[in-house]
Amino acid sequence: MNASATHGNILSVEGLTKRYGAMAAVSDLTFNVKPGEVLGIGGPNGAGKTTLFDTISGVSRASAGTVIFDGNDISNLSAAQICHLGIARTFQLNAVFDTMTVRENLQSSAYFGTRNRIVPSLRFDKEAKEQADEAMEVTGLQELAGTVAASLPILQRKLLMTASAIASRPKLLLLDEPVGGLNSKEIDHCAGVFRRLRDYHGMTIVLIEHIMSFMTALSDNVIILHHGRKLYEGSAKGLADDKEVVEVYLGTAGASAVRAAATERLSHGVA
Ligand code: ATP
Repeated sequence: MNASATHGNILSVEGLTKRYGAMAAVSDLTFNVKPGEVLGIGGPNGAGKTTLFDTISGVSRASAGTVIFDGNDISNLSAAQICHLGIARTFQLNAVFDTMTVRENLQSSAYFGTRNRIVPSLRFDKEAKEQADEAMEVTGLQELAGTVAASLPILQRKLLMTASAIASRPKLLLLDEPVGGLNSKEIDHCAGVFRRLRDYHGMTIVLIEHIMSFMTALSDNVIILHHGRKLYEGSAKGLADDKEVVEVYLGTAGASAVRAAATERLSHGVA
């Protein structure tokens, strides 16, 4: 399949279903992502968000449906093959190498995330070093290059996960709750990093997040999942006016936060 077959979408998910026994964690889900788009995925706990990422990124195999990425059918590929084609992801919980420094973590991601290394060399190549430096610069981690990951505070650990994902220079970045557990100042800091990735690096991003003000501020479009199905698909600012979304997920306080974030986004001209 070539890129034109996917109508200009970098990612096309069609009829995706993931069953665990009798329970469908993701059910007949279809959506597209355009190059350069930021798509937010929200929904209550257990809605199927992480399962969706697991099936797209090859961590687990879908029960039915297809995933087309950049013109390739990746539905049956391994996580490593999918990563080498250009999808990188982060995880909700800590997923860095604790005993390695920030630089070593990033060089490993760049080296092994780009292509198959059947016989790895004893040293990282020049390309991996450059990619690691670039990832540190984008995420502002340069001064911590020699720090062992285990001793990083939570904000920098979260940023290191993002940096590890972008070190392989992916075409699509999947972020699973990138600001979960952070305070509002730290969330603002991360929003700045992701805006830079979006605006200056043209990165296509799909992000799962419960912090709706953050998601609204960053996303071009939003999907809300409920019991593995699409409850809402549309603009971030339209979320607050959708009765079902407010009832099932946002609540009135959440809807107000979404409205405020959408207004702020427009007044800053970042839409
Ligand atoms: P949260 O916001 O809490 O992270 P989520 O929307 O990411 O939730 P998932 O983690 O995708 O939800 O889980 C969706 C459903 O699938 C849940 O009912 C969960 O218990 C179930 N589930 C997830 N992984 C497995 C598994 N490996 N085996 C069996 N059931 C699973």
